[in-house]
Amino acid sequence: MPPFSFTIDAECPETWARAGTISTPHGTIRTPIFMPVGTQATVKSVSPEELREAGATIILANTYHLMLRPGSQLIAEFGGLHDFMHWDGPILTDSGGFQVFSLGHLRKLSEEGAAFKSHLDGSAHLLTPEKVMQVEAELGADIILPLDICVAYPCSHEAAREAMERTHRWAERALLAKQHYRPEQALFGIVQGAFEGELRQESARYIGNMPFPGLSIGGLSVGEPKAEMWDILCSVTPELPVNKPRHLLGVGSPEDFVIGVNLGMDMFDCALPTRVARHGGLFTRAGRINIKSARYRAEQGPIEEGCDCYTCRNYSASYVHHLARTEEQLYYRLGSIHNLRYMLRLSSDVRAAILAGTFSAFRDNFLANYIPTSEKVRTDQRKKWQAAHKKWQEGQQRDM
Ligand SMILES: [Zn+2]
Repeated sequence: MPPFSFTIDAECPETWARAGTISTPHGTIRTPIFMPVGTQATVKSVSPEELREAGATIILANTYHLMLRPGSQLIAEFGGLHDFMHWDGPILTDSGGFQVFSLGHLRKLSEEGAAFKSHLDGSAHLLTPEKVMQVEAELGADIILPLDICVAYPCSHEAAREAMERTHRWAERALLAKQHYRPEQALFGIVQGAFEGELRQESARYIGNMPFPGLSIGGLSVGEPKAEMWDILCSVTPELPVNKPRHLLGVGSPEDFVIGVNLGMDMFDCALPTRVARHGGLFTRAGRINIKSARYRAEQGPIEEGCDCYTCRNYSASYVHHLARTEEQLYYRLGSIHNLRYMLRLSSDVRAAILAGTFSAFRDNFLANYIPTSEKVRTDQRKKWQAAHKKWQEGQQRDM
């Protein structure tokens, strides 16, 4: 088993973009890379074989969800996630910190850790930096993340500083605890600091100087306007060590991927491509389309001309439209495969452009053609999700 390593294959002379190679015990990852999200140890509706065919080289799984159900000890009895879910490539597990943060009033933070009540049955749990290392060792992913604190947007300077400093202390505890577990797992550090450039820079230097083989940028894409997220990365990237891979946590729409690479990020994970696919939103060179729209009712060509995904090679847009309108099971699979292949093809196209020294032109061309969902549509969608989430939380509270 090769240990974890990262090498830079090429750097863009005009931007912070770079192409690299990550080695893990379960395989090699060429960066920049999009990582499909498999919250419950499955990328929804897509088999591991289909993920491979779409070009996935690493997937993400959620520690919080898996520790509650089916339980990390059960997964350990199978030798870890790889055997349990039949995916033999690299896996990254997050720390559960973000999900616990999302629980709102269901959790309580202290210096020791995050006490919370399960969203499933109300049972009480305590996540500490040490406990998270134990759980992630049982899950057995190749890359693991330490417990961190993600603050809400917006938040006060005092709250941002307090959360960042505690995240730093927890990072030290995680490094110490990890020594008791699997040496082949690579523990990344997480940079926090909310939306304050100076705090972010301080965090990037602090975490960057610790013996983590890679770094994740956490606490972004939590409801802020995108311009603020990019401003923060402009402050953070110059402070990060050059020779470690950089993971932008929870970000991964097509346009965010290209801009994130431009700002020096190497790894991206996001549930958005599969989530919007399930609702009819499919990616094309010109932007996101809605396959349920009447204009695809009789379209005999594929979703996108030239797309090499399984769906576009075998099915007309008309048929996919029909499946989506009738909410057939097969639609979720075909739509998800198209969007995953889109993101993974975009990853390799971006990498090829960096290697060829043409990334700036690629970026300009991509952004000129790709019409992103407007900020207003995004804000409206987010409000709907937040309202649904609030209802769900209130239901949880009643059940306890
Ligand atoms: Zn396709």
